Order: sequence, then structure tokens, then C-alpha cells
Amino acid sequence: MKTPAILFATSEMAPWVKTGGLGDIAAALPAALRRAGYDIRVLLPAYPALRQAFPDAEPVAELPALAPALPPSRLLAAETDGLPLLLLDCPALYDRPGNPYLSAEGFDWSDNVSRFGLLSRVAALLGQDASPLAWRPDVVHANDWQTALAAAWLHYEGGAASVVTVHNIAFQGCFDKVMRSALGLPEAAWRFDGVEYHGLLSFLKAGLQLATRISTVSPSYAEEIQDEAFGYALAPLLRHRREELHGILNGIDDAIWNPAADPALATPYAANRLAAKRANKRALQQEMGLDVADDRPLFGVVSRLTEQKGHDLLLAVGDALPELPAQLVVLGSGDAALQDGFLALAEKWPGQVAVKLGFDEALAHRIEAGADCFVMPSRFEPCGLNQLYSLRYGTPPLVQATGGLADTVVDVSEETLADKTGNGFVMRDGSAEALLQAMQRVSETWRDKRLWQRIQQNGMRRDFSWRHAAADYGHLYREAVAARR
Ligand code: ADP
Repeated sequence: MKTPAILFATSEMAPWVKTGGLGDIAAALPAALRRAGYDIRVLLPAYPALRQAFPDAEPVAELPALAPALPPSRLLAAETDGLPLLLLDCPALYDRPGNPYLSAEGFDWSDNVSRFGLLSRVAALLGQDASPLAWRPDVVHANDWQTALAAAWLHYEGGAASVVTVHNIAFQGCFDKVMRSALGLPEAAWRFDGVEYHGLLSFLKAGLQLATRISTVSPSYAEEIQDEAFGYALAPLLRHRREELHGILNGIDDAIWNPAADPALATPYAANRLAAKRANKRALQQEMGLDVADDRPLFGVVSRLTEQKGHDLLLAVGDALPELPAQLVVLGSGDAALQDGFLALAEKWPGQVAVKLGFDEALAHRIEAGADCFVMPSRFEPCGLNQLYSLRYGTPPLVQATGGLADTVVDVSEETLADKTGNGFVMRDGSAEALLQAMQRVSETWRDKRLWQRIQQNGMRRDFSWRHAAADYGHLYREAVAARR
């Protein structure tokens, strides 16, 4: 089979628009596939950040209103490092500042159904005979609910094969049923095995139901979401499609996340030059107003602050930190209660706990480098990128045994030290006590500098580049094309 051509549809792409892991993946995976020889283009909204980054983007197609809720739009072509981008320009929907999903007040944009309905519709159109472009993908690869609905049009009207990847099943894109016709979906799609989901139109459910193949971002998460506890009401559907569901572990962009050449760091370092990592700890302590102490481990957090990430557990044990003794640095934003909780903890323990609210890419790099241990007590984690970054940065992660965390972090034990796989600390019980015990274990282990260095090196030597994932997606695309025929 010839190498399939791919349209990668996404609602975010680093460095321009990123709220989480999908932004990083949308930047790295298409680039890796292009290097592997795929004819791949990325479709995403022409948000202001993209219009600014690509002021010379060329209009290549004008699109009429495709349905009552979908205004006219056009496609602009641009290129980043040789990777072609198709920017979906529709100022009424995308020309607004801030977060791609939320208004400044923190609520979903009220027209998200049209914003991502249009993105999905155009993704499907580009895979159909009616496409305004001469270029035609063999596979439309949609990501999360914001583009998943593309699979519905391709299913009902024909066209390219579709792959829908779940980066987080907690967000499902559910809207009032009147939107079915407003988006121009056929009446026949309103079925329990179509786009209907408990009386609502669900973008994600439609995609998981109708895509030629589905995938998620780690083998463990692929298993977990077949269980009601993780997959919510979509678990039965996923069990039904288990033969067509694949778990492909994300890679990381090892050029951007490379401690030996990271412009954000005070001092670069590598697995064989770990002493230089200490200067980064000192610099981070200074930057964040922590006591510059070398006698205690520094725990780091970079995260969306939400229930999913388990930071309430960390808050519950926060007062034990100074006694441990250990320090904590937190960078994140999200739920007001968690934000306030961390601010209060920092106020109570000046010099030992420091918090910065907001999104700060460079500081995220400095925390990965300057912390001794990265904490991710997530209740669920489809893949997780931060534990991969911290492995690469010689900052062993402390994680909950779930999803991609379970697939990438190997608990330190006699056996895993002997076979050189032990690279972090895994808790198997999601309680605050278990987290405290694990933090105590980290503190003790950290005091044995030679042992700690072995753990750091085990993590730093593992290959988390995108090469493996790109090859696996290549197989998945071929399978989808064959199945579509
Ligand atoms: P999720 O996609 O669930 O948010 P991941 O671990 O998969 O979690 O990816 C999170 C990505 O977002 C990482 O690249 C992480 O560094 C980044 N990130 C999260 N919060 C912040 C923040 N406050 N500042 C900078 N980067 C952040």
C-alpha cells in the first residue's frame, strides 16, 4: 500500500495555542510523521496567534456557509519547518483573545458548537470529493471532541477513512439536539449508534461510534476507558469496539525538552553531567523565593489544577512538607479552590512552598530542571507528558499507577534497580496517606546521592522520542485505509 496522505485536525497546536497535552502532540506528531515520509497537513482554526505568526498565509479556498450554524469561511495555507498548515479562517468564530475553549470569565464560549462544528465539518470536507482543494487525504485524523464529529460526515457521506484519538475522555462536547440539523448532519445520524447520546448531540461519542479506527494515548488508558470508572457512559461503546481501539503512547519533542540545550535553563546538563543540575535547583529556589537549601528535596508541580490531577491530595499533606523536610514549587492554574489552597499553603510556609498561578512555558522548563522530584498524583491520566519531561530532565516522577503514568514510570525496587528500569515512584492507592508515605520514601531515597543518580540516569536514558509513536500511527492509518475499502 502506498504511504497514506493524512489530514491532522486539531483545536490547538504548540507553541501558538496550547492548553494541555494535545497542543504539544499536534506540534510533534505531524512533524515526526512528515520526517517519516508521510504527506501530512495540519488543519486548525486561524486563531489570532496563528494569524500573527503567519501574516503571509495564502488564501487557498473560499467556503460558503455549509449549514445554518456554520458561517462562511476560508482556508489559508502556511508552513512551519516544512510542515504544511491549513488555517481555517472565520473571524466571527475564531478571532477573539484568550483560551480556545473558554471566555475570560472561565465559561465555555457559548458558540463552541459552531466553532468546533465548523472545524469538524471542514476536516471531513477536505476528505471528500466536494473538497475545494486538489490535495486529498486518505485518512482524516481527528483529535478529541473538537474535531471528532468529522468522522460522522465521512461515515454518512463517504470520503476518506477516519481515525479519532482520545486525549481525554472527560471532555465530550455535548450540545442540544437541535444542533444536529443546524450543523447539517443527516437525519439518519440521530440514532443511538449515530451521533445521539442520551438525548444530546455528542461530538466525541459520534466520533468514537463512527470513526474507522479509534485510538488513545497509552495502552493502559485504552484498557481503562472500557471500564465505567474511567470511560463514563462511553465504556460500553468502547468495549464493543475494542478490536478497533488502539493505545499508542505519546512521545515528547526531544529538541524542545532537552536539558543539554534548553534556553530556559540557567545551566544545561545531561545524564553524564548531573552535577550541573544543582545550579538549576538553586536558581529556581531564588526565582520562586524559596530558601536556598540543599539539605531537602524540592518537589515540583506543573499542571492544570483540576480534580483529575489529584492536587487536593497534595494540599491535604502540605503541612507535613516542612517536617519531612521538603520544599514544594507549584506552577498551574485552574479550579479556584485549588488555586486558593496552594496560595494559602505558600503563605503559611514561606521559604518552603512557592506557588505561581498562570501559564508560563519557560518556568515549566525551569521547574522540570530545578526540582528533585516531579509530583503527579493524578486520578486518571490518559498519557501525561510532564512525567516524560521529568524523566528526561533527571527529575524522577512520583505518580499514581494509572493510564500513561503506569506505562512509563517504573517504581524503584531492588529488581528494577538491578535491571536498570526503575525510574520513579509509583503509588497504588489514591489516598493522601499513600501520597505522604511516597513523599517520605522519595525524601529518604534522595538522601542516598549515588542511588538517586542511578534512578535519574535510568529515566534520562529511556527513549521517549516520537519515532516509535509515529511508526505505530503509520500502522493504524494503513489499517484504517484497508478497513475503509
Ligand atoms: P494535560 O494535557 O492533561 O493538561 P499533560 O501532562 O498531558 O496534561 O500535558 C500538560 C502540558 O501542559 C505539558 O506540556 C505541561 O508542561 C503544560 N502545562 C500545564 N500547565 C502549565 C502551566 N501552568 N504553565 C506551563 N505549562 C503548563
